[in-house]
Amino acid sequence: MLGEGILKGLAETAKNFAGSYVSKERLTTVQYPEERIPTAEAARVFPFLVYDGTDWEAGLRCVACQICEKECPPKCIYIEKSKDKKPDYVGKLQIFPARFDIDVSVCMSCQICVEVCPFEAIKMDTEFELATDDRFEGLLRHRNQLAKSNEYYHKIHPTEAAEVDARLAEEKAKVEAKAKAAAEAAAAKAAAEAAAKSAAPADAPQATAPAKPAEPAPKTTGGGE
Ligand code: SF4
Ligand code: SF4
Repeated sequence: MLGEGILKGLAETAKNFAGSYVSKERLTTVQYPEERIPTAEAARVFPFLVYDGTDWEAGLRCVACQICEKECPPKCIYIEKSKDKKPDYVGKLQIFPARFDIDVSVCMSCQICVEVCPFEAIKMDTEFELATDDRFEGLLRHRNQLAKSNEYYHKIHPTEAAEVDARLAEEKAKVEAKAKAAAEAAAAKAAAEAAAKSAAPADAPQATAPAKPAEPAPKTTGGGE
């Protein structure tokens, strides 16, 4: 029947409206901004940069590889690499972003930057109150505004953050095991070389010194001449 869908929708709205006077479940609206509905875990609005520890600058996971900058469809990420290095989460010295800005007015919340980041350094925030009356500088979010702790990430996306932590821990354990095996192999090689060196003088025949060339006979002066 023509308009059946519209009538069904209106009936549902009317049912909720009338029901909201008797049942709280039917109350689908809140008095925003005083009241807020808890944000869904799957919500995604705008990216943020994850940092570990308490110091955002030292703990930023981002290594300024610029993959997200290249892959962002509307090109609203601006990164400048640092000149020096700092250790990353596995202790490897890495460069970091001296500048990392994202333009709120251009970002389309596609999450591609998150998908392509190999370091789990950028994630989607659920914060949606990003409006500002400063339409130029205010819409460009800098790295100090984008940086949010791993605890915050756990708070807004607990399931996803736990999976990421497990993955990073596994990766870190693999790197540590590899480094340990390499150190053990190097130590074993050094010990074998030292043992071979110390055994060499006893077993090997004494090397004979090269014969000294015969010294020329001293010249005699006067006498028989
Ligand atoms: S969410 Fe999409 S548009 Fe926004 S910064 Fe990331 S890649 Fe760019
Ligand atoms: S957020 Fe990720 S992909 Fe983007 S520059 Fe940093 S490490 Fe690279």
